[in-house]
Parts: sequence; structure tokens; C-alpha cells
Amino acid sequence: MEIYKKLKEFGKVKLNEPLFKHTSIKIGGVADFFIFVDSVSHLVDLLNFLRKEDINYIVLGGGTNTLLVGERFEGVVISTVNVRQIKFDENKVTADAGSSTAEIARMSIKNNLTGFEWGICVPGTIGGATCGNAGAMGYDMRDSVEKVEVYRDGEILELSYDECEFGYRDSIFKHNTDIILRVFLKLEVNKNKDLAKEAMNNITHRNKTQPQGFPSSGCVLKNVAIDKNIKIKDLPEQFLQRGIISTGWLIDQAGMKGESLGGAKVSETHCNFVINAGGATTDDIVDLIEKIKDKVYDKFGIKLEEEVRIIHL
Ligand SMILES: Cc1cc2nc3c(=O)[nH]c(=O)nc-3n(C[C@H](O)[C@H](O)[C@H](O)COP(=O)(O)OP(=O)(O)OC[C@H]3O[C@@H](n4cnc5c(N)ncnc54)[C@H](O)[C@@H]3O)c2cc1C
Repeated sequence: MEIYKKLKEFGKVKLNEPLFKHTSIKIGGVADFFIFVDSVSHLVDLLNFLRKEDINYIVLGGGTNTLLVGERFEGVVISTVNVRQIKFDENKVTADAGSSTAEIARMSIKNNLTGFEWGICVPGTIGGATCGNAGAMGYDMRDSVEKVEVYRDGEILELSYDECEFGYRDSIFKHNTDIILRVFLKLEVNKNKDLAKEAMNNITHRNKTQPQGFPSSGCVLKNVAIDKNIKIKDLPEQFLQRGIISTGWLIDQAGMKGESLGGAKVSETHCNFVINAGGATTDDIVDLIEKIKDKVYDKFGIKLEEEVRIIHL
């Protein structure tokens, strides 16, 4: 109970919290402690405390790209969703890690700034988006990030764009233990686009091409860059033009559309979405992802990589 009392200094704390409430796929084990930390400074104080006491922790943003495997987390799950101050200064945006990506996009449009319209369709937080270099409509986080403030081993550091080591759905934060505190974006002043209309078009397109009404974690596997090792006859022209093959298409061609395993199902609307069709366990989801990877490898010789983050509790 000492830990519980101490944690309350940093935000709202819950004991034995079911984690399905905090992931978009609506699955997860139970956490000993769950805390909605309420500011960047409290996040830093909390991390210092957990470090000093050697207590395990996991940081979650919106939980929209995360699969939590296991029954119980003996430690503290930190939610950043209440750490969400967003400031605009001309064409620059400073956003706390838990700020909603879609909200930043909406505010940018309102401020007549362009470059982040795509973010309106992406659920979750800017911290999660920066970690996974989220993107849509041909853009991603690296197009807008100027620098990132992080907590690393008890210190607060500012990482330059280059130090973030962004790649396709990848960044240094997927490979180290840095906790993102704030993200600094640089956008362009809009001259002639109808930003509100473009954002509406993006939303309409999303609603048509993504499964509605079932919990998911978005695309589970990364799209594939075309290189000389890929020998697929009759690739659709749009993939050749973009140099990227849609993994949803590969999954469909491998005969996995609509495939189920327990409560997990490959969406019929977008085959790269594995939905919780009802009562799925994380094992169902993870096993179905493995099956998809095997089938695509058997048919095309392509090894798919996870886009979704799998965290073992
Ligand atoms: C319906 C739907 C549509 C989606 N569409 C898209 C899309 O178009 N494009 C796209 O790229 N993604 C998409 N996604 C996936 C997801 O929304 C994005 O990847 C999103 O940016 C993840 O943010 P989050 O806050 O939910 O991250 P979380 O799932 O909470 O976390 C993801 C990872 O980041 C880490 N993390 C989170 N916050 C921090 C922090 N402050 N510091 C360090 N590490 C942190 C977590 O530990 C975890 O490993 C979609 C998901 C859904 C459900």
C-alpha cells in the first residue's frame, strides 16, 4: 500500500486494473497498478520514483497499436492520455506525449497549417505515433517532427530529428527504453488547399476501407517495399508506382480473408486488420498473425514483420 500512496502523488491510480479497458482491441491482462499520470513533470517524477525503487513499468498511450500478452503485470502501467497540452507558435507545434494525434491534426487545420492532415484518421497519442512512426495517405511522423524530448535513464534529453532514426513504421524508440515526453512538430502555412475538405475526404475514405464496429489494433503487419527479390507476377499498377505492396492484398491473395481463429478474425474489409470478433484472447490474435505470416511466406516467399507492438506482461 506504500506504493499505492506514493503513486497517488503523480495522478489517478487504480489497483488490479483490467487492461482490456485501455487497448483498442479490448484485450489485456490485469495490472497490479495503473496510473493516469497528469502532467509531463509528474511523468518525470514518477519515472524517477519507479527507477529508484526498481519497479517494473510499461508506458501506454491510446493502446491502439499494442497487444498485451499474458495474465498479469506485476508493476505499474502508466497511461499518458491525460498528459495532453498542445501549444501552437506560428507554424510550430509543441505537444505533450499523450496529446491525441487526431486533435493535433484538427487544431493544425484550424490554424491553417498543412502537413498533418493525415493525422486526423490515426487514433491514439502523439507519443505512440512518434514511437511507431505512424502515417497515412503517403505521409508519416518523420515528415513533421522537428525534435523530441525524452526521459532516458534519469535524464531529460532533446533528440534531434536525425537522432530519432525514423524508418518505415520504425524509430529509435521501438528499440530503446526512452520515454517520449514532448514532440515538436514543424508544419507549413497553408496557401491554397481546402484543408477541412481534405480531412473530410480522408475520414470518408477510412470509413469505407477499414472495418467498422469491431475492436482492432489497426494494421497488424507492415507493408512491403518492392525490391529485386520480390517476384510476383501481375502486381497491381498502383503498387508498382508507389514501390510498396499492400500487405492487405498479399493476405487476401494468400486466401486468408475472413479466416478465424478462436475469437480473432481477418477482416473482410481490410485483410491487414485482425479484429476481435467476440471473446478473442491475445493468444488468438497472435496465433492468427503467425498463421497469416506463414501463409504469405508459403505463397510469395515474403517474410512479413509486425507493425503492431506485442508486449509480454
Ligand atoms: C482503427 C485503427 C486505425 C489505425 N490507423 C492507423 C494508420 O492509418 N496509420 C498508422 O500508422 N497507424 C494506425 N493505427 C495504429 C495506431 O493507431 C497508431 O500506431 C498510433 O499512433 C498508436 O498510438 P497509441 O498512443 O495508441 O500507441 P500505443 O498503442 O499506446 O503504444 C504503441 C507503442 O508505443 C509505446 N509508447 C506509447 N507512448 C509512448 C511514450 N510516450 N514514450 C515511449 N513509448 C511510448 C508503447 O509502449 C507501445 O510500445 C490504427 C489503429 C486503429 C485501431
